[in-house]
Amino acid sequence: MSPLIADRLARVRRLISNAEAEAGRPAGSVGLVAVSKTFDADDILPALLAGQRVFGENRVQEASGKWPALKSEFSDIELHLVGPLQSNKAAEAVALFDVIHTVDREKIARALKEEMTKQDRHPRLFIQVNTGEEPQKAGVSPKDADAFIAFCRDDLGLAIEGLMAIPPVDVAPGPHFALLRKIAERNGLAGLSMGMSGDFELAIPFGATLVRVGSAIFGERDTPH
Ligand SMILES: *Cc1c(COP(=O)(O)O)cnc(C)c1O
Repeated sequence: MSPLIADRLARVRRLISNAEAEAGRPAGSVGLVAVSKTFDADDILPALLAGQRVFGENRVQEASGKWPALKSEFSDIELHLVGPLQSNKAAEAVALFDVIHTVDREKIARALKEEMTKQDRHPRLFIQVNTGEEPQKAGVSPKDADAFIAFCRDDLGLAIEGLMAIPPVDVAPGPHFALLRKIAERNGLAGLSMGMSGDFELAIPFGATLVRVGSAIFGERDTPH
């Protein structure tokens, strides 16, 4: 077990508090999702022991392997799916996750709705927006976002908490955070899932309500994911 992880977690929390204060936002208004993908229980445990309870994973299958045991040990864990979801994994995702950040097409929205009804479990939902309109990246394009939000809410009756984005690498993320916020505001959505290890401090003045931080807490990942 690495004491480094607890130290890094404490540092990230401190940086979040500082950024909240600097942006004139209330203390505690930004939630930290500790993204533990590729790391196993030995690395997750120090974070749990340091009081972290909100974790993110990007693969349903990987999360199903490691989280049920941890969830039975620590009853108040909140698990977030931050990676792409296939509709054949919707049942498993609804059963395991408390928050899903990656709703981005009609098929997956319908599959989630069906499973939520069937299981009577209601994970909080975010719609992913591909703010950089990158062909290889998941997310609804900014021009289709309003219609897709309306489809989820009005046609399916899904409660949508907010929007999520992953800005393109190697560009300034600020304009992408601003765009996500603008789309959220005009649709009356309060949640903004944006900011990762490299840019979470910058996402906070743009209004992030959840930052998703992996390597700054757990260290560099061996596999790219
Ligand atoms: C891996 C991942 C993160 C965390 O990335 P870091 O740069 O390690 O902080 C955040 N969001 C998503 C969607 C991810 O896949």
